[in-house]
Amino acid sequence: MRTSTIGDDARGSQSGVRRRRGARRARRAAVRIHARVGDSVNSETMAALRTGRALARALERAGGGRGAIERCGGSSRTRAAHAAASGWAGSGRDDGAGGGDGRRRDGRAAPRADGQSGGTNVQWLRGQGMPAQGGVRQDQAPSSAPRGVAPAPLRGTPAPPPQQRQRAPQGVTQTPRSPPQQGRSPPRAPSAENTTSATGHFSTPAPVVHRSRPDAEGEYAAQESTGPPGLRDALMDQGIVLQSYTPGQHRIICPTCNGGSTGERSLAVHIEDDGKSAAWCCHRANCEWTGGTSKEGRQRASKGADGAASNRRVAKPKLPDPADLQRIGPGNMTPAATKWSEFLKSRGISLEVAERNGLAVQNVYSPPASGYVDALCFPYMRDGELINIKYRGPDKSFWQVKGAEKILYGLDDVAGEEEVIIVEGEMDKLALEMAGFRNVVSVPDGAPGKVKDGALPSPEDDRKYEYLWNCRAQLDTISRFVIATDSDGPGRALSEELARRLGKERCWRVTWPEGCKDANEALQKEGVETVRESLSTAEGFPLRGLFRFSEFAPEIESYFNMTTANELRGVSTGWRNIDNHYRVVPGELTVVTGVPNSGKSEWVDALMCNLAVQHGWSFALCSLENKVHEHARKLVEKYVGEPWFEGKYSKAPRMNPDSMRTGMKWLNEHFVLIRHEDDELPSVDWILGLARAAVLRHGIRGLLIDPYNELDHKRPTGQTETEYVSQMLTRIKRFAQHYDVHVWFVAHPRQLHNWKGECPGLYDISGSAHFINKCDNGIVVHRNRDEKLGSLREVTVNVQKVRNKVAGSIGEPKLEYNVANGRYVDVV
Ligand SMILES: [Zn+2]
Repeated sequence: MRTSTIGDDARGSQSGVRRRRGARRARRAAVRIHARVGDSVNSETMAALRTGRALARALERAGGGRGAIERCGGSSRTRAAHAAASGWAGSGRDDGAGGGDGRRRDGRAAPRADGQSGGTNVQWLRGQGMPAQGGVRQDQAPSSAPRGVAPAPLRGTPAPPPQQRQRAPQGVTQTPRSPPQQGRSPPRAPSAENTTSATGHFSTPAPVVHRSRPDAEGEYAAQESTGPPGLRDALMDQGIVLQSYTPGQHRIICPTCNGGSTGERSLAVHIEDDGKSAAWCCHRANCEWTGGTSKEGRQRASKGADGAASNRRVAKPKLPDPADLQRIGPGNMTPAATKWSEFLKSRGISLEVAERNGLAVQNVYSPPASGYVDALCFPYMRDGELINIKYRGPDKSFWQVKGAEKILYGLDDVAGEEEVIIVEGEMDKLALEMAGFRNVVSVPDGAPGKVKDGALPSPEDDRKYEYLWNCRAQLDTISRFVIATDSDGPGRALSEELARRLGKERCWRVTWPEGCKDANEALQKEGVETVRESLSTAEGFPLRGLFRFSEFAPEIESYFNMTTANELRGVSTGWRNIDNHYRVVPGELTVVTGVPNSGKSEWVDALMCNLAVQHGWSFALCSLENKVHEHARKLVEKYVGEPWFEGKYSKAPRMNPDSMRTGMKWLNEHFVLIRHEDDELPSVDWILGLARAAVLRHGIRGLLIDPYNELDHKRPTGQTETEYVSQMLTRIKRFAQHYDVHVWFVAHPRQLHNWKGECPGLYDISGSAHFINKCDNGIVVHRNRDEKLGSLREVTVNVQKVRNKVAGSIGEPKLEYNVANGRYVDVV
């Protein structure tokens, strides 16, 4: 559903122009502000500037960027607007950037050959007076440590090129395969390896806890998701928004010149290999905008804005006093810690791994248990600072520090990594470390309970993913995400949503072995080899437009097991006679024609009414020859079954006002109007743009375009009408297929010479033979005008073309028209 490019489709139409003008105005305003501010960065102005740009983009996308419009409108959080505008949240427009970067890897999850990856040990429990056992360094740990069980590169999987493995940032422990590493003690643990186990009795360590910045403004300040700014923010300050921020070349529409009249992607943005700086250049001769920025530059420049936000962010999170924490690790532990260490061992987690991840026990108040318990603590660290703690109570309940920022668990382990594995729980991260993977993060809250059905996330739902935004500085430059969530429904939904937001082109997903719910279960039941196997066989997320048949398995299965009621065979038209020849299949295009006054539009109206009543479908109507009140009358008459007026065209009594209102209510629920208010004729692209919005907003299943002849058919010089019609129908079909919407396209036949009342053919449509070639169904509605041949109310629905042989066949079913209420009934 991400191909919506309303901006493109609207191009050339008045309203599209209007929208773009609005966008340009907004951007110009933003640029003016920028100019006035100059280099002295005023936080308010910066915020206004950013909002202005976000709005400009949202306007530009004009409803097609589903996230953009909805979120900008629905939420006052500028961050959310940023997220939407930046493409982070999968906003509709494809910047065309980044796709290549995500795919340059070999498509496999290659573990560190030595079972290690970059990333420091969690140091928050270490410090002076630290007992000895805790100080054993990972690379010197006994054989139970991860690297002891780590294998050589996976079967059939080439080891990652050395330069990939060695590309660890400064300050990150990087362990070559052999010999055992010497002398690179992890930061902030200077005394760790000098301590001995001879200390004898255990005492609560005095850990070094780096808290997040003090909150100067107290609790009244609004919570705001933030996190350290990344290159993304620095680029956004320049009005540059990319689809992804992986190192390499990206191309977007230049925000300065807007890509000229053709909207070309003239701005080349190059992100340096370290992901920390970028340079850009517009290649349009009359623009040539060039520049550069960096993460650091942004941090300095906007200290005022973001520093304040960060300080305000946390409403006094009550992070534990280090003295209250009891360490878990090899050697002496408190009874409570010993108990939890047994639990960890039973889950296949070694104490070394537990310790490296900073696990501890705290006697703390448990909101779920309404009392004090010895809870297992998972520290959430970022850049060595304790940000949050996830507690696990003895009763398998979970809670976190109130008011603390939501971030990913294990974030510091992926600093500088190109490849990151995402799991659904802290235990899964530990399990993967046992299997040799340290470049793993866990989402903080597991999978949201209910499976998303494609509806727009509400702002509250959206907050469930705020940790992604908070960690953007760390995640932006990652080339490859291996998503290894649980194999249940919520887990799959989580993986879909993560991929949508992170960009599917850089996401792969893991399938756990049969009978294993997650990484921890796979480790316990199947062992490390199976876990590695599962990760190495991670499959790419389906990229837009690139599929395997297996991805359609459920549809293909149900097509095979199809019953007559199945939608794939099309839904019933409501007329038995018609159903034998024509059923309405979602995603198809039906061209309807007929001589003037044959009732072709009327028949399609009746069909839509049947579908709305019987199947609950809703529709977008672009009916250019109908006045709104006329069209309402025709539709309500069909629904109510009584005439609107009395005596005008029937003797039946007119519907009473209540029926009319009931009818109007129904009409309102099932039909939306696409109306062109300007003098100019609407273009097909303009209609399709609005129809896309109607799919998102109203869930329409059908679109009526009536008639073809009333549309704007200006075509580029040199293009023949045949080519034009062909391309136009292709666009309509693409829309229909993509959104599973059935489109009826009504077209008048060309002037018929010496017409004697006979039924025209599809080839008589003015335009070209492409109508017949491109449509899925071709129907000619014809009314008998010769009393000698039968009833004048008899209408033939001449099904002249059916592409889908399962859905119907050509034929000439007949209906009878009821003048009083506009309904059609089967002729028996
Ligand atoms: Zn430019």
